[in-house]
Amino acid sequence: MARIAVIGAGMGAMAAAARLAVAGHRVAVYERTETYGGAVRRLERDGFAFDTGPGLLTLPAVYRDLFVKTGKEPLESVVDLVQVDPSTRHVFADGTEADLPNASRAGVVSALDAALGSDAGARWGDFLVRAREAWDRTRRPLLEEPLWPNWSVLADREPYPSVPHKKLLRTRRAGTLAEVGAWELRDPRLVALLESHALAYGLDPRVAPASAAVLPYMEHAFGTWYVRGGMRELARAVYERCVARRVEFHFGVEVTRVLEKDGRAAGLELADGTVAEAEFVVAGVAPEVLSRCVRGTAVREDGGVPPLSGLPSRITVLVALRGGRPEGAAHRTVVHAQDRERELELLFGSSWGLDARPTLTVLRPDDPGVVPGPDHEAITLTATVPAHADRDRPASEVYDDHADALITAAERAVPDIRERLLWREVRVPADIADATGAEGGAVPAPALAAAEGRLLHPANTTGLPGLFTVGGWSHPGGGLPHAGMSGALVAGLIVEGPEFRGSQ
Ligand SMILES: Cc1cc2nc3c(=O)[nH]c(=O)nc-3n(C[C@H](O)[C@H](O)[C@H](O)COP(=O)(O)OP(=O)(O)OC[C@H]3O[C@@H](n4cnc5c(N)ncnc54)[C@H](O)[C@@H]3O)c2cc1C
Repeated sequence: MARIAVIGAGMGAMAAAARLAVAGHRVAVYERTETYGGAVRRLERDGFAFDTGPGLLTLPAVYRDLFVKTGKEPLESVVDLVQVDPSTRHVFADGTEADLPNASRAGVVSALDAALGSDAGARWGDFLVRAREAWDRTRRPLLEEPLWPNWSVLADREPYPSVPHKKLLRTRRAGTLAEVGAWELRDPRLVALLESHALAYGLDPRVAPASAAVLPYMEHAFGTWYVRGGMRELARAVYERCVARRVEFHFGVEVTRVLEKDGRAAGLELADGTVAEAEFVVAGVAPEVLSRCVRGTAVREDGGVPPLSGLPSRITVLVALRGGRPEGAAHRTVVHAQDRERELELLFGSSWGLDARPTLTVLRPDDPGVVPGPDHEAITLTATVPAHADRDRPASEVYDDHADALITAAERAVPDIRERLLWREVRVPADIADATGAEGGAVPAPALAAAEGRLLHPANTTGLPGLFTVGGWSHPGGGLPHAGMSGALVAGLIVEGPEFRGSQ
């Protein structure tokens, strides 16, 4: 039995902690805030409850596996998981609307044919077949296995089987997601549908590799799920599983240093000078936080996976409404940007700023647990924003104006949102930075192949023996399922050693 000290109580860190405790280790988690879950928080006010982090779950299998491996009670008996159907209602810039059913290729094809005209559905359906091939080729190395020592093969090879595209006398193949859209999907609404998946993870479709096709594929193939009561319930369940397995939690304690002895990680030093000795340290924090804790030591042994920088953040507007949720409301509506070029330039270009008509996600859960009564509705609006959009004006002013713009944009999904408004609260990048410790409130994306490795994340092992990294900032990257998988990988690497090659 080894002592294991975990930095941070985010989802990746807790997933590792529960698994390590079940393997017989003594695990203690040190969290700088007063609560668990990291980005997965809830705002409660006047009987309303809102997720301020992720609102939906994809790939629930990752958490099912965590609960099976760490105890007798399966995930479904500790949280109420429901499939969201339709998976998404899309409101396109030209006013066309399409409801896409959950996890049904035939259903999605006919919904797109009906909404966008014949052939659109078939083109999207054919794209999903190619996206599946990219998924089959990358699922193990990019989700279920530790980062390969020869990771550069993942950086060089594009797993998406793009369709040859003839232009003038040349034949080309899509290398970016935007090229997949322009050359294979062609309809601007299908392009918006495709690119909205990249934007939701903070990725620029113009430079994201074609392999980002796995993002819509994952949702399509494994469904979109809601946890009744809100996503915070999933964090609660993982925390309670940790506690049941005797993981010790210390809240309100900031880790300031990883101790080293004889060239190995030997424990932690906390802000008050207290020392916690351990044989292994697992860090579930952003890279800049870890670099501050590991002085003068190369924390990464991947030998070259470039650091992810300049990733955007999110703005979330939590809207309390009078009047019940109407029949036929979709759980999730994506209101597409009015002007794609402008949105991308403001988000990722040199003239960055806030777009008043961005790609906006509107969540309207059908859940009595998040409202004071049947005559009320709780709606969450989320958009991707640059991590430092508040550079020139006070954040409160910038985002307050922007929240109003987003409510106006949301009228395309909820026409009476203003008349019914009781109050609204805004969560900005600085709030995300408070919850997670990541600079500028940056949110990491899942690891993707190709693009010269720019979207791979550093390995879970580091240059300091005994120190491991977990969560969205390390392999296999950000998002609830990926962070959950990183917990399984780190537990495997500690329990089975460097030969561990992933769960079978
Ligand atoms: C607004 C928003 C929307 C999102 N939407 C989605 C979505 O739709 N789908 C999806 O899959 N994912 C989404 N995500 C991302 C997802 O929430 C995260 O990738 C996931 O929760 C994994 O988190 P993590 O394990 O990296 O830990 P984090 O959530 O980053 O938590 C890190 C923890 O470490 C603690 N910590 C930091 N420094 C120290 C220190 N020095 N000492 C002690 N503790 C420290 C922090 O306080 C925090 O608790 C969203 C995130 C945000 C913020």
